[in-house]
Amino acid sequence: MEYSPKRMQNTLNENDFQLKKKFGQNFIIDENIINNIIEKSKVDSDTLVIEIGPGAGSLTYKLALIAKQVLCYEIDTTLKSVLEENLSGLNNIDIIYQDFLEADVLSDLKKYIYKKVYVVANLPYYITTPIIMKLINDKIPVDKIVVMVQKEVGDRFKAKPGSKDYNSLTVFLNCYFEVSKLMDVSRNVFLPKPNVDSIIVEFRKKEQEIAVKNKEVFFKLVKDSFVQKRKNIRNNLKNYPLDKIEKVLARHNMDLNVRAEVLPLDIFIEMANEIGE
Ligand code: SAM
Repeated sequence: MEYSPKRMQNTLNENDFQLKKKFGQNFIIDENIINNIIEKSKVDSDTLVIEIGPGAGSLTYKLALIAKQVLCYEIDTTLKSVLEENLSGLNNIDIIYQDFLEADVLSDLKKYIYKKVYVVANLPYYITTPIIMKLINDKIPVDKIVVMVQKEVGDRFKAKPGSKDYNSLTVFLNCYFEVSKLMDVSRNVFLPKPNVDSIIVEFRKKEQEIAVKNKEVFFKLVKDSFVQKRKNIRNNLKNYPLDKIEKVLARHNMDLNVRAEVLPLDIFIEMANEIGE
């Protein structure tokens, strides 16, 4: 059968499938976008791809043509017949019908042999951040993540110090990944059409772990620094040893009147290491 995301969507109708807003179901109907994701993700025959939410399988199909293995997690069991039909004939796809946030991915990965793991997906918008956090917290050995996300969420992921979107999540992500935007995506390429535009974001794993002496101190310090966005470090960190923090800031020609939103990852690391002994 000839590949076409539109034809794959037809299978949805034939199977009386009802789109579910609660699962963030906005399916891609434009083949160019799928080709772009495939090309930019640089998946190859050594790659095991994790796809969260295959939907009707239009991205899954093309991933399977170039990847060693595609491992999908889909929460909506009513997609089973649709996916079986759309992906028939491809024997390197496994679909686990489960909430990805509940999955034991490390254990699921044990049955495969692979050289690298990429996550490639058009993520359900309502749980974008929890999915990224799960990948980090569960220590899933991902080398790269290429995901379509709502534009404003993506802007936060890739924000630079000093921009309005920079927050504690950005600093946290920067500990593990280099984050960059790959491309803008119009809302018109989805069925149904969402109210917002999207972007494709890439997370590339950093070679080295961040050099913090005490991770707990570091993460708490970052969170507390942003607790009230309009307040300066002196106010947000009033329960911390301010003399030590001031010493670090002075090394960078700053003082306690600075706001967290302008501080890069390196300065947070220095501050945490100064107070965390
Ligand atoms: N990949 C398809 C595409 O691009 O056309 C569908 C993408 S759609 C934005 C999100 C998909 O994630 C849906 O298939 C939805 O059912 C699935 N999904 C939603 N929540 C999920 C969860 N917690 N775990 C696994 N899949 C989920």
